[in-house]
Amino acid sequence: MNKINLLYRNPQEFINHLKSKNIFRFYFVYDFQKKEVVASHPELREISDFLNSDERDFSKHEGLFFQISKHHDVLFGAFIHQTNRGQAAGGVRFWTYQRIEEYMRDGLRLAKGMTLKNALAGLWWGGGKGVIAHNPAIDKNDFDFRKAIYREYGSFITSLKGCYVTAEDAGTSVTDMKNVFSQTRFTTCIPESLGGSGNPSVPTARGVISGMEAALFFHSRESLKNKTVAIQGAGNVGKPLIGILFDRGVKKIIVSDISQARLYNLMEKFKDKNLRIKLATIDDDSIFEEECDILSPCATGAILNERTIPNIKARIVCGASNNQLEDTERDDLLLHDLGIIYIPDFLTNRMGIVNCANEQYGYVNNDTYIEKHLNREWEYSIYQTSLKVLNESKNSSLPPGKVAITLAEELSKEEHPIFGHRGLQIIDSLRKNNWHTDHSLNAD
Ligand code: NAD
Repeated sequence: MNKINLLYRNPQEFINHLKSKNIFRFYFVYDFQKKEVVASHPELREISDFLNSDERDFSKHEGLFFQISKHHDVLFGAFIHQTNRGQAAGGVRFWTYQRIEEYMRDGLRLAKGMTLKNALAGLWWGGGKGVIAHNPAIDKNDFDFRKAIYREYGSFITSLKGCYVTAEDAGTSVTDMKNVFSQTRFTTCIPESLGGSGNPSVPTARGVISGMEAALFFHSRESLKNKTVAIQGAGNVGKPLIGILFDRGVKKIIVSDISQARLYNLMEKFKDKNLRIKLATIDDDSIFEEECDILSPCATGAILNERTIPNIKARIVCGASNNQLEDTERDDLLLHDLGIIYIPDFLTNRMGIVNCANEQYGYVNNDTYIEKHLNREWEYSIYQTSLKVLNESKNSSLPPGKVAITLAEELSKEEHPIFGHRGLQIIDSLRKNNWHTDHSLNAD
């Protein structure tokens, strides 16, 4: 394989190449003195060059660590963006990627997103993300396979000595988290039966409600009463969201999903309510064209784009999906120019991470550390932060996404009140101790 081709290879080809060079672990670390990315192996120079020249997704990520699974040719990654506020925290995604560049870009973007989300939520956590690149030759749902790779992923996280704390994300289940937890203490989102916070979807739905209420207040000093809401996705978040919206007195809800079973279940549950269901195909975004007051994306990302935005009838967009804007700057501006109020996703869907952020400090009923994010009084609550962002957007004529990012970036530079910028010290010590040369990994 010639050097220039590494990023264009699929994960399996990439893994085979690394194995042929006897590389089982590798990293890319940003050297703040040299002001450049340093690779663990000269053979990986093409990737450090790519990172050094990339202006789209790389933004001085402090460290990117990788390991090849011992038995399954699966690539494990921990993308650490920034640790000023504390350990890098964010879930682990289990996904299929066509090319290594796509895999790297996804991890970089998601890790940076977590820095913004955690900072804006006032959590003493930095931003990071785990990404496991699936090997399509293996059945993803095989019980023994999942158990083995998530246990191994847990050991990989342990080897990183706490600079990254993992959690649940797309493609990863609570059972998978149990397997991660069996091998590392550096994880959250573990099942309640093991002392964790369990599924965060109901608090996430409540967070989305806070964002909607702030947007309505900003728009017309009104409440959710008698409004019409269109929701894309009736899953873990969408379903409780529907229940809370009806409790708040909305007039009508239109919901789309690609799962007929989920829609029938909703029809049954809300049979006395004004609920319209739409069975969608994966690329059907006609829900965005529905006449409604609020559009709530709760399915997948990149759904707000040049094609969909001009068709939106709602005056407010507020939902749980991550990375709703296909192009962060372009689509934020497009919504703004059309007079559509957009509550940035990383602001309104923070409860997933908030719910598990303080797991290690124990629990009390109606925990104030969680509930304050959902009230209207605390200055960093979702409601107050949304109002702050919308008011600043109005005063500055900048779109709300940009305002929220600027605010989050300022907060992300604050250092942890006790441990300072310790994550960077951990990364430095991993480097000095040749983390990448642990060859016990290639032994059976
Ligand atoms: P989920 O997988 O339980 O639900 C998603 C639903 O969307 C599923 O029912 C699926 O069938 C449906 N869907 C997929 N593609 C669709 C399409 N094109 N049109 C209509 N429906 C479609 O996921 P979830 O936990 O409810 O999360 C929803 C979104 O919110 C995801 O993007 C997730 O990353 C994000 N999020 C979730 C949480 C949480 O606490 N669960 C926290 C933060 C962010």
